[in-house]
Amino acid sequence: HARAGTAPRRVAVAEGTAAVDLDALALHTELPAAIADGQLRVHYQPLVTAGTHRVVGVEALVRWQHPERGLLGPGAFVPLAERSQAIVALTRWVLREAVAQCAAWRADGHDVGVSVNLSAAVVGEPTLVGTVRDVLAAHRLDPGVLTLEVTESALLADPAGAAAVLAALRAAGARVSLDDFGTGYTSLTMLRQLEVDELKIDRTFVAAAPQAPADAAIVRALVDLAHRLSVEVVAEGVEDARTAEVVRGLGADVLQGFHFSRPVPAADVFAAAPAPVREVVLPADEPVRAPR
Ligand code: C2E
Ligand code: MG
Ligand code: MG
Ligand code: MG
Repeated sequence: HARAGTAPRRVAVAEGTAAVDLDALALHTELPAAIADGQLRVHYQPLVTAGTHRVVGVEALVRWQHPERGLLGPGAFVPLAERSQAIVALTRWVLREAVAQCAAWRADGHDVGVSVNLSAAVVGEPTLVGTVRDVLAAHRLDPGVLTLEVTESALLADPAGAAAVLAALRAAGARVSLDDFGTGYTSLTMLRQLEVDELKIDRTFVAAAPQAPADAAIVRALVDLAHRLSVEVVAEGVEDARTAEVVRGLGADVLQGFHFSRPVPAADVFAAAPAPVREVVLPADEPVRAPR
């Protein structure tokens, strides 16, 4: 035993690590009961058209209202859930909640879709396609209002298997989106093989585009490639007006980020615009002029 005050640094580091792991273990253990007990929440972040900033969709982002620890972000527990079957129950819950909320908004006259994130483990889950069909049918929703987001890394373990699942989801009418695109190791040809509907350019490229020519070039190239494949482009992580304008100029179709809204509870999404306002569409190239 080391005497007090002389313990080697290595031990202190090991103890710190163990404490974190125990913390994670506790959350991991609590999660299934927490889902059943109704402690999960979904917050929604708007997606807006690049030109007129009209809300066309929302991304469902899960949170855990933990009785002792407060509101936890997905980074604190989704990776833990992914290590067990808990991710299947979590995803099913988020899907049900998000689709029900989308149906409610649509019944109120808001023409919006909803996007739900899928982990790799869920893409490989045999019940996924059936769950998606059932959830949409329960609300008599046009399946095209649901977009399922997957990351490149989620496809790496079993690209052929994942491609088959994504094809089945699309056959059921849902849209498929490649999330955080550009950060993984997927080759660009995967875009063609997968036949996705949407590509979300990772926010690292988006945030850098206004000042870094290389990042702007990457965004432009991804937009051009996607558009040639009839894939819609979402720029994520738009944090200011300048970035919104730059990525619109680079061809992005839809924008998402703190500049427009942080993820918020469902009740706050349309709080500023309770009744849908009819959009006045102006010709894109013509500046607005006051009548003479
Ligand atoms: P994601 O799918 O890429 O979601 C976008 C994340 O970026 C969200 O973080 C959002 O709050 C954040 N974000 C949005 N706009 C901006 C911005 O302008 N600037 C910055 N710096 N960040 C922005 P959040 O909610 O913490 O979610 C993190 C990740 O957790 C998500 O990344 C997604 O991969 C995962 N996740 C969230 N909900 C679920 C879920 O229900 N199931 C699964 N499997 N994963 C989920
Ligand atoms: Mg996402
Ligand atoms: Mg993303
Ligand atoms: Mg991300």
